[in-house]
Amino acid sequence: MKARYSVVVPMYNEEEVISHTYDRLKQVMDRCGDSYELIFVNDGSRDRTVEIMQEISNRDKRVKLVDFSRNFGHQIAITAGMDYSSGDAVVVIDADLQDPPEVILQMIEKWKEGYEVVYGKRLKRHGETLFKKVTAKLFYRLLSSMTSVEIPTDTGDFRLIDRKVCDVLRGLKEKNRYVRGLVSWVGFRQTMVEYVREERFAGETKYPLKKMIRFALDGITSFSHKPLKIASYVGFFISFFSFLYLFFVLFQKVFTSWTVPGWTSIVGVNLLFNGIVLMLLGVIGEYIGRIYDESKDRPLYIVRETRGYPAEEELKES
Ligand code: UDP
Ligand code: MG
Repeated sequence: MKARYSVVVPMYNEEEVISHTYDRLKQVMDRCGDSYELIFVNDGSRDRTVEIMQEISNRDKRVKLVDFSRNFGHQIAITAGMDYSSGDAVVVIDADLQDPPEVILQMIEKWKEGYEVVYGKRLKRHGETLFKKVTAKLFYRLLSSMTSVEIPTDTGDFRLIDRKVCDVLRGLKEKNRYVRGLVSWVGFRQTMVEYVREERFAGETKYPLKKMIRFALDGITSFSHKPLKIASYVGFFISFFSFLYLFFVLFQKVFTSWTVPGWTSIVGVNLLFNGIVLMLLGVIGEYIGRIYDESKDRPLYIVRETRGYPAEEELKES
C-alpha cells in the first residue's frame, strides 16, 4: 500500500540517537492523520545503527530500511531515500534531531496550500560551535554571490518536496550531488517555514572540516562556473602587468647601461607566477575531476539490503 508521506532519514553512526529519532518521528507523524512511511538510509555506519533499525523495522511495518554497502555520503543517502520513497510528499530530515520533527506538520500545511517545495529556514542554531556557524554563514553568502540559481541562505536539507519534484530530482543523474542546490534549480512553487535549529540530541557531528570543505566545493562547482572565470581574469590581469614589466626590462637593456643581473627579481617573478599557475590549474582540475566523475557513469550508491519493501521492489535499482 502506498503511503501518503515519506520521511527520509540519512544515518551515519547514529546509534545514540536513532531510536529517539524514530520515537519522535512516529509521534509527530501519527498526528498528521494520514498514512506514512519512515525510510531510514544507513550510510555505511560502523556502529550499531543498522542493528537497532533492523529491530525497529521488524516491529513497525511503516519503517523501511535501505542499507548501503559502505559510506557514500550524506547527499547520496538523501538521494537514495528519495529513490526508495513512494509518498505524495517526501520529507528529508537529519537523524540527529537538530531539525525538530514537529516542524514537519507546518510543512505539510504549506504543502496542502499548494506549495511543491517547503524548505526549513534556520533562524538560530543552538549548540553548534562558533566556527561552524561562521563558516556556514560565509559559505552560503559566497555561494549565492557566485551562482545564478537562487539558493536560499541558512537552509539545510530539512524540507518537504512534492512527488513531482522528487521525480524530477531522481531524473538528474549527476554524481556530485548538492541536493539543496538541485531543489532550487528545478523551480516549482517554493516556500519556507522558519525554525530554530536545536542541539544535536547525542553523538557528534559527522561533518568534520574535511567533509565540510568537500561539501562546499561541490556546492560551488556544481552551480557556478565563476571559479573558472576567476582563473581567466587573474590570468589576464597578471599577463597585462608582466607585459608592462617586459617593456621596462627591454628598455633598460637597450637604452641604459644599468643591467645588473637581477637574481632577486627573477626568483620573485618565478615564485609569483608558479603560484598563480598552480592555483589556476587547481581550479581547472576541480572541474575536470567532476567531468571524470560524471563520465565514469558508476551507480550513485550500492545497496546491501533493503527491509520493509515488497519483494519486487527489492530489485529496484538506483
Ligand atoms: N550523514 C550521512 N552520511 C555522512 C555524514 C552524515 O548520512 O557521511 C547524516 C548524519 O547521520 C545526519 C545528517 O547526515 O543524519 C547530518 O549530519 P550531521 O548532523 O553530522 O551534520 P551537521 O548537522 O553537523 O551539519
Ligand atoms: Mg546535525
